[in-house]
Amino acid sequence: MPKKYRILIVDDERSNRKLLSELLSEEFDVVLAKNGSQVFQLLNGEQVIDLVLLDIMLPDMDGYEIIKRMKNNDNQKDIPVIFITVLDSAENEEKAFQLGAVDFITKPFHPSIVKLRVKNQINLIEQKQMLEEMAGIDGLTGINNRRSFDTIYQKEWQKILRYKDPLSLIMIDVDFFKNYNDFYGHGAGDAVLKEIAKAIKNQLNRPEDMVARYGGEEFVVVLPRTEKNGAMQKAEKIRKAVESLAITHEKSDCADVVTISLGGVTHEKEDGNPEAFLKQSDEMLYKAKSEGRNRVIWR
Ligand code: GH3
Ligand code: MG
Ligand code: MG
Repeated sequence: MPKKYRILIVDDERSNRKLLSELLSEEFDVVLAKNGSQVFQLLNGEQVIDLVLLDIMLPDMDGYEIIKRMKNNDNQKDIPVIFITVLDSAENEEKAFQLGAVDFITKPFHPSIVKLRVKNQINLIEQKQMLEEMAGIDGLTGINNRRSFDTIYQKEWQKILRYKDPLSLIMIDVDFFKNYNDFYGHGAGDAVLKEIAKAIKNQLNRPEDMVARYGGEEFVVVLPRTEKNGAMQKAEKIRKAVESLAITHEKSDCADVVTISLGGVTHEKEDGNPEAFLKQSDEMLYKAKSEGRNRVIWR
């Protein structure tokens, strides 16, 4: 089933909210807000918002103020905003685009055109994701994605077999991250993933070392030509680096800050295959979890 995008409709007039949500709810998940404070409650909440349809005149703050605040927030600045307003002057439209709006629709609107313009923006989102995917980049964290990990990992495996060099692999998973999202919101969770990706990357100094986002809140590190002792030390440094970010996590059962668990393996000369090796590091990660989390376990 294709992904259902979620659209936030912001309008202080009930009839407008109703009309727009009826128009869009068949194809999209729709959430509604009638003022600025509701907008930010939703944007900071648990659900991911993919696009905002924004009225300008609102009771507590105007649409311009809302988009300004969104652009100043790392987790919200990339969400496309379409203005939909009775303020139809060129000045208003110009201001909207200058503040970073992607489109400007004037009221009274033609429902079918609103729908098409929303779809245009959704298409652009999908194209951007496709380009990132093709470039091997994880859209959220900017590090390698799963696909680029697969390619690099296979190549490294071929090399070590040929030159009989060691290869170390570390699987990483954020501890009690579901609790984090539930308590602090999905946007805050995303920000944590970015921080963690950066912290891991900062610990890697050889050009052939690599980190990738393996999936949701899991990362994987490949250390070619690195023996067990060195790799274990590196893993411990990564663990400490994430702990030292000191991101408060009230709902963690193993620490009061965000932590990670790490499972590692080193391939030294014996036979084997990349899949089994990956599975072993996953087993070590599982062990790190069951032995209390926020630790490194090595085979
Ligand atoms: P454990 O310590 O056993 O790993 O517990 P956990 O809660 O981290 O593990 P679980 O697998 O139950 O939950 C993983 C959660 O990670 C689910 C989801 O809320 C969150 N998550 C996965 N991907 C993303 C993402 O891209 N962004 C955000 N914000 N959260 C994500
Ligand atoms: Mg997980
Ligand atoms: Mg986890």
